Amino acid sequence: MRTQIGIVGAGPAGLVLAHLLHLQGIESVVIETRSRKYIEERVRAGLLEHGTVKLLIETGVGERLQRECLTHHGIVLRFHRGSHRIDFNDLAGGKTVTIYAQQEVIKDLVAARLAAGLPILFDVEDVSVHGYEGSSPSIRFHAAGKEEVLHCDYIAGCDGFHGICRPSLPAGVLTEFERVYPFGWLGILAEAPPSNDELVYCYHERGFALLTMRTRQISRLYLQVPHDEDIEAWSDDRIWSELRKRTEADGGWKLNEGHIFQKNIASMRSYVVEPMQYGKMFLAGDAAHIVPPTGAKGLNLAVADVRIMAKAFAEFYKTGKTHLLERYSETCLRRVWKAQRFSWWMTSMLHRFDTDNAFDQRRQLAELDYVTSSRAAMTSLAENYVGLPWD
Ligand SMILES: Cc1cc2nc3c(=O)[nH]c(=O)nc-3n(C[C@H](O)[C@H](O)[C@H](O)COP(=O)(O)OP(=O)(O)OC[C@H]3O[C@@H](n4cnc5c(N)ncnc54)[C@H](O)[C@@H]3O)c2cc1C
Repeated sequence: MRTQIGIVGAGPAGLVLAHLLHLQGIESVVIETRSRKYIEERVRAGLLEHGTVKLLIETGVGERLQRECLTHHGIVLRFHRGSHRIDFNDLAGGKTVTIYAQQEVIKDLVAARLAAGLPILFDVEDVSVHGYEGSSPSIRFHAAGKEEVLHCDYIAGCDGFHGICRPSLPAGVLTEFERVYPFGWLGILAEAPPSNDELVYCYHERGFALLTMRTRQISRLYLQVPHDEDIEAWSDDRIWSELRKRTEADGGWKLNEGHIFQKNIASMRSYVVEPMQYGKMFLAGDAAHIVPPTGAKGLNLAVADVRIMAKAFAEFYKTGKTHLLERYSETCLRRVWKAQRFSWWMTSMLHRFDTDNAFDQRRQLAELDYVTSSRAAMTSLAENYVGLPWD
């Protein structure tokens, strides 16, 4: 097999990249270890930045998104039983964020690729990458028990945090920057209409809670829990009881409850590797960086990376110039580090830390008071939340 770009991983990074390359007339093959059903049902992100939505619509894969999404014009920060709205209309120049589950984005991209008759190989095994230091990159794998070799001009490592592309790079090439948090998020999906039209971020002495949603009938709710928490320790009753306490508010507030049909615990980490490229291997999305989900940036960063990568490949195939390819990592990392800063800041402001003392709690409350009363501080939050400009 031979193609121009060999893409490892059919997450948002790999699939958006394949789609953008196709629109530029560049061939690619996507290989994925999981089944189509698995990636189309995997529950993860749900909040899309303004720029991500614009890109999906402009490139022809936003038709169902536009029909089914929920558009949000603000978020609420809640502390001391008080609710404070950050109004994006007023503060972020009318930009919005959009609720549309990651697995729905995946379904739309897979459908578009298959409808165009383009290659995407599911259920492959034993993937390994070779030759990217020189001029003949290749990807080896097993498909239906048979060994295959995909020769390509470049390899796009879009295989997520636990993939093989990043660890395949020679020792000493990458520098890792990491912060692991002493807590995780217990997330549930529940058959309950959202209690509020927009996301509610709750700071509470018992720990952080987040109210979000997937549709007008399905709530997505999160609780801060210790990083090594056992999900079995959380019965449905305990989850609802804790959510009621942490989201308490004045003014007739009521938490809508319903049947919980999915629950899991996700760990929280900030992580970046530099550079995001080596020879003919380019990393994108979670393969190169992870953010704690508080700022809802992970999927959006993956899309921002591959937009830059696709432009660089387009320049190369049209003109033979490698200028944009050479600057790929540097260009991406400017945005990545700003998203890291924002995600870390939101996380630090809203969560309880093991080491918290009375000083830290007063400091967090002062920060929340500031960010909900100063127009300058609210504007900073709003412009980062909807997504910083791409160019
Ligand atoms: C609970 C949770 C909530 C989140 N909420 C948000 C949110 O609200 N907003 C947001 O923007 N982000 C959020 N994120 C983050 C977001 O889901 C990720 O950042 C996003 O999935 C990254 O996309 P990706 O394509 O880089 O990686 P992935 O989605 O991880 O895709 C990588 C793909 O590569 C495949 N793969 C792995 N190894 C191999 C291999 N060896 N060969 C071939 N294929 C391989 C995997 O199966 C996978 O399909 C959340 C994440 C979690 C866990």
